[in-house]
Amino acid sequence: MANQYKYCNSLTDFSRLETREVTIGHVKFGGKNPIRLQSMTTTDTMDTKSSVEQAIRMIDAGCELVRYTAPSKKEAENLKEIRAQLNQKGYTTPIVADIHFTPNAAEIAALHIEKIRVNPGNYADKKRFEEIEYTDESYQAELERIKAKFTPLVLLCKEKNRAIRIGTNHGSLSDRITSRYGDSAKGMVESAFEFIQICEANDFYNIVISMKSSNPLIMVQAYRMLTHKMIENGRIYPLHLGVTEAGEGEDGRIKSAVGIGTLLEDGIGDTIRVSLTEAPENEIPVARKLAERYLNRDTHKHIEPIPYDLPYNPFEYNKRPTTSNLNIGGKHHPVVVADLSHFAELKPANLFGAGYHYNVTDDKWNLSEQAVDYVFTGQNTINFDLPGTLSVICDEEVWQPDLNQHYPIFNSITAYQSATQKSEQLNFVKVDVGDLNAVKSIKTLDGTVVLVLFSTNLHRMAEKRRFFIELMHEKIELPAIIFNDYIDLDDETFQLYSSTDFGALLIDGFGEGIWIQSENCSNLKLNTSTAFGILQATRTRISKTDYISCPSCGRTLFDLQETTAKIRAKTNHLKGLKIGIMGCIVNGPGEMADADYGYVGVGKGKINLYKEKTVVKKNIPEAEAVDELVNLIKENNDWVEQ
Ligand code: SF4
Repeated sequence: MANQYKYCNSLTDFSRLETREVTIGHVKFGGKNPIRLQSMTTTDTMDTKSSVEQAIRMIDAGCELVRYTAPSKKEAENLKEIRAQLNQKGYTTPIVADIHFTPNAAEIAALHIEKIRVNPGNYADKKRFEEIEYTDESYQAELERIKAKFTPLVLLCKEKNRAIRIGTNHGSLSDRITSRYGDSAKGMVESAFEFIQICEANDFYNIVISMKSSNPLIMVQAYRMLTHKMIENGRIYPLHLGVTEAGEGEDGRIKSAVGIGTLLEDGIGDTIRVSLTEAPENEIPVARKLAERYLNRDTHKHIEPIPYDLPYNPFEYNKRPTTSNLNIGGKHHPVVVADLSHFAELKPANLFGAGYHYNVTDDKWNLSEQAVDYVFTGQNTINFDLPGTLSVICDEEVWQPDLNQHYPIFNSITAYQSATQKSEQLNFVKVDVGDLNAVKSIKTLDGTVVLVLFSTNLHRMAEKRRFFIELMHEKIELPAIIFNDYIDLDDETFQLYSSTDFGALLIDGFGEGIWIQSENCSNLKLNTSTAFGILQATRTRISKTDYISCPSCGRTLFDLQETTAKIRAKTNHLKGLKIGIMGCIVNGPGEMADADYGYVGVGKGKINLYKEKTVVKKNIPEAEAVDELVNLIKENNDWVEQ
């Protein structure tokens, strides 16, 4: 990898990026240590009993670092009691204070517990969403002010042997940073570096860094830019990975796996927090599944290194240029292919899980927002009238030119080249990406071909990425569908793995379609919703409402899970709308970044509603707030009736 873009050890040969080892309490992070799993409590930090009990549930589930919010001095002080009670019960797992805006609380917490998380966006700055023009002198003066505020904590942590996490969040960058660098991944990196430099100036290196965003694309780019800069500087600090406000259930898992999994694929990441709007102990098994996938990844089959400069920029999103054929490639969003090859005989009802519902009374097809574009039927063909938006891919042996909306698939380039019967419009050709020489043969293929890329390598994402890179290097612009198969996985593991495998490629602009095949894929509905969920999380195809809901913590002012469910029930038909649901105002409109509407707790039983980053309805009683949110969406003409 050219130095210009170097952000991990290798894009082809898996190994973990070795970071500095840091010590948090009695646990070591980074270096050659395993990827540590962590989470955050949702209790009120002043409620010692609940806070201790919840931490114990988390630790029993495998949590290796427990975070508590410390919004003011009294919570920071109470961490002493929480630490003592945990110790008494035999739980010595290190704990962390989460600090926003309150350096004095941070300095108290550092006396009692093992680690302090600071947010560079608000440790010494206030966010007012102002554009401020800084001269070099006034910018420098601001840095001096921050130094004066942050240095006492650094010195205290050094003296007490504590650790600090410099936890940058995309949505809560300071006005100063956004004025100079924009609301960008680069701004996040610069913001963290200002704090890293203050630590280093005081010879304090017991630090961990995070670059979180609710948008997995920005999150991945920010971590890559950060590791690039740390590699250049020669000091690589351990990385805490997370996607903020990932949400709940399937969406939360898919979004988290796209962001966290993409980085883990390249050996980046020393500790993981999966932020789900669920009980914190539920996060640990998800984090474990993500982390354990890489335990023997370095045994993968060899992948050819890249002997030339990368033909794409891994720090920004650019789609690989491709030609278009029907609805695949070019400016079209990625297509979804559903596997129906396991059905012995196909009937209209078999399309239900693929998003098509045949209404017998009206003799009409009803399409969901997540209706697939192609179905693969293997040795079968479909002999009933198909909806106009759906086409069939069938094995070349059974394909006939007069079959309406059917296209053949060939098992290899050779099979395609030697075939006597081909579609004049569209032919799918399977390519094993383990053989880079195949690219030479692809050069000779005609424009009716869409490639279907598969791999048998344990490091299959990287092998496919290597192939895409070769296609780009050779300036081949045929569209390519990413194919992955999954065998013997439970539903959650399947979603986490597939989100990583497809997401990591889509984030780099690779892939004109998703094709999920699972041997036991009787659950077509799950495969379909996973495929669309991955496209939504990578923002390559929007098919539903996006909820940016915080995981909740001790600051939360309402029941997040219940409220999220209520908001979801009323708005889940508003395709493409982004709704932020935040437990408190601390990061308020900041953390929900690019949401169109925001629902934010502002006091006990009181909600503020936002239109983008502006608060437009204040102190709404909680009982009325969901309806008021709906009214607000209607007032702004973003509402559609179901
Ligand atoms: S937004 Fe949610 S998770 Fe973040 S501090 Fe507020 S309540 Fe806690």
